[in-house]
Amino acid sequence: MRELAAAYARALPGLDTHSLLSGLDATLSFLPMGERDGAYDPEHRVVLINSRVRPERQRFTLAHEISHALLLEDDDLLSDLHDAYEGDRLEQVIETLCNVGAAAILMPEALIDEVLARFGPSGRALAELARRADVSASSALYALAERTRAPVLYAVCAVARPDADPDDDAPAGKRLTVRASSGAPGVKYSLRPGTPIPDDHPVAVALATRLPLAQESYVPFRSGRRMPAYVDVFPERQRALVSFALISRAGKGAEADTDAS
Ligand SMILES: [Zn+2]
Repeated sequence: MRELAAAYARALPGLDTHSLLSGLDATLSFLPMGERDGAYDPEHRVVLINSRVRPERQRFTLAHEISHALLLEDDDLLSDLHDAYEGDRLEQVIETLCNVGAAAILMPEALIDEVLARFGPSGRALAELARRADVSASSALYALAERTRAPVLYAVCAVARPDADPDDDAPAGKRLTVRASSGAPGVKYSLRPGTPIPDDHPVAVALATRLPLAQESYVPFRSGRRMPAYVDVFPERQRALVSFALISRAGKGAEADTDAS
């Protein structure tokens, strides 16, 4: 799917909305679609996009629906999938694959490698990739993590909305938590969404001061475990884009953060 999508993207004149669709013999239609982000109608060759969602999401949805079209045209891949899965599981796998395809279309490997070469595996790299590919920070996070060679964990952190969790006893609007997290290949840890960031952690400090910060600190797992890491924080509007470069401790066995409590 990734190769299929990357090959499609390479042949496009650009990555703006019009160009994105130009490789497909299909038309584009924006309309209110309730809970759905979009759809692809192969019979009429129309890509439908929910007009009520924010633009960066529409953009990802467009690339996702294009991936559906590419998959439908690839008989080999399609029959492999039908051999391996069925029913709901097949649907889930197809949706996941189309997200992989969307990421590959919007964030070509060359772009990711360029950002990594310039900024290193940092919070800033995450911000640059999201901006240049015009995708959400969460979408950029997974793509960046996948191409990162060093043992790095990325995260997007933000202050939870006051009404996000009525059972939350923290002062309204004051709780800084992880929104999304993903590690480079080989990094077994990740920070679960909702994991709180302590007030004195560099992520909280950078967000409060609105100044980028890079220093030796730790990964604040929800279990309370503090894993040593070089933390790089790039605050942007109400959120912080973060990389945790894990500091290896020779001889210590890796142990997954079970985080069950
Ligand atoms: Zn889909």
